[in-house]
Amino acid sequence: MATSSARMSSAQDALLQGCAQIVGASQVLCGDDDLALPFRQDWTGQYTAIPLAVVRPKTTQEVSDIVRLCRAHSVSIVPSGGRTGLCGGGVPISDHSSIILSLERMNAVRTLDVDGRSMTVEAGMILQTAQDHARDNGLVFPLTFGAQGSAMIGGALSTNAGGSNVVKYGTTRELCIGIEAVLPDGSVINALTGLRKDNTGYDLKDLLIGAEGTLGIITAAVFKLHPMPLTRTTGFLSLASLADAPRVLNALQDRTGGGVEAFEYMPLAAVDVICREFPAIRQPLETPADTGIFFEVASCRKDDAESGADGDPRLQSMVFAALEELMEEEIILDAMIAQSEQQRLDLWTMRESILEAITANGPAYHMDISLPLAAIAEFVSTMDAAVAPMGFRPLTVGHLGDGNLHYALSAAEEQDWESLPLAQAKALAFAQLSRLNGSFSAEHGIGQSKLDVMQKLKEASQLAAMRAIKQALDPDGLMNPGKFIPAQGDTDMTK
Ligand SMILES: Cc1cc2nc3c(=O)[nH]c(=O)nc-3n(C[C@H](O)[C@H](O)[C@H](O)COP(=O)(O)OP(=O)(O)OC[C@H]3O[C@@H](n4cnc5c(N)ncnc54)[C@H](O)[C@@H]3O)c2cc1C
Repeated sequence: MATSSARMSSAQDALLQGCAQIVGASQVLCGDDDLALPFRQDWTGQYTAIPLAVVRPKTTQEVSDIVRLCRAHSVSIVPSGGRTGLCGGGVPISDHSSIILSLERMNAVRTLDVDGRSMTVEAGMILQTAQDHARDNGLVFPLTFGAQGSAMIGGALSTNAGGSNVVKYGTTRELCIGIEAVLPDGSVINALTGLRKDNTGYDLKDLLIGAEGTLGIITAAVFKLHPMPLTRTTGFLSLASLADAPRVLNALQDRTGGGVEAFEYMPLAAVDVICREFPAIRQPLETPADTGIFFEVASCRKDDAESGADGDPRLQSMVFAALEELMEEEIILDAMIAQSEQQRLDLWTMRESILEAITANGPAYHMDISLPLAAIAEFVSTMDAAVAPMGFRPLTVGHLGDGNLHYALSAAEEQDWESLPLAQAKALAFAQLSRLNGSFSAEHGIGQSKLDVMQKLKEASQLAAMRAIKQALDPDGLMNPGKFIPAQGDTDMTK
């Protein structure tokens, strides 16, 4: 434990000595070198702050002891996973003394029940490691998104992460069937039975999922596992109009018995940015699609994996039949189907490169919104038409099958980002969302970045109930303060 003592008061020093006694001195990082990136800022680089220390417990008991100790010293705790969150949730706020409690050493698989199709893992396990572990046992842990190589189970639960397979498997909340957590008073909830049915009171699991560390620290969870698909058909479509996307989705679902695993909106502007920032990635269609859709359909049925009369796996023939009908109706203009695993992976790489491509492209304001499927086309056309004359270039992608759009505003060519009317564009977008019954936060969470919108648009009675829950469980406000629940009057929409 290397301290930078000039910065430290004796009370803080005593706290850190106490932490060292609990987790071992080497697991309390507080020297200037130790507190270098990534602990000083979030993934977006927008939020920065230096914690008193980063503390890395190995067991649930150690987490509980640290929580009790911090409470005794009135020091806040910011839980931390893979630090890929996009809303500033994992960065302390400047007017509180805080430690970052990193779950990275709690990364074990506790059990995997092949017959019961479930797995109990610790919160610090990297998402991809959890996927690999399920796969090694012939099963699927389906949670999939671009940051899966770094994001951790506890972070995914705390943000109720979504990603590209929600259309089939649901969000993290729907995959989770049990939780272990340390509450703000240091007590431990052990609800890891993994029962599929358990109506014995308030569902504390569901309260902690999506709470962004404001109600406690998740230390482990049980997840449902799914059977491994035996065959997949993956491709890219050019649609005549975004308004037809629900028709295409439903046709694929109907033909394949609900087999759609991914249905992602990838319009030309977004694919262009990806291809420019990552030159190894190519446009998937010869004539680039204005309204592009990346899709994957899968089946676990042996029959669907076997070849039919045309020599193709039956699942692929079902997809072809659906696409042919839609092409005859001129709803689909062009289509490509991956003919090899490499082509399939290339399409996935293209999809998962988008956030890094937009980030490399320059400054942008990212909205993570959801809408009823039928309202998506109207939102996009209204917004695109309104923001272009303001000097913005919208860069949109979306988990369209879930009605989730990542609508990013970047500067149009030769426009200076700083001089663009962002507050006006945001106000317009949020007015459209309210009119169309959408949500201003679909899957990334609230953190610090959406407190203004939360205060303005969340129903007052719901905000009051959230504040009452927070007050009941964390009366001293020490769990991840300044995030998720806006302080009264936090309405500055220019941020
Ligand atoms: C390239 C890229 C692509 C992405 N794509 C998607 C996507 O498609 N879908 C999606 O939903 N998200 C996506 N994200 C956002 C991000 O990856 C998710 O929010 C992820 O779930 C965060 O996990 P993490 O371990 O990195 O959490 P962190 O960033 O470390 O933390 C996130 C929040 O959870 C809290 N927290 C962390 N661990 C715990 C714990 N154990 N107990 C209590 N609270 C905790 C933190 O305090 C913080 O508030 C993407 C991010 C990137 C960088």
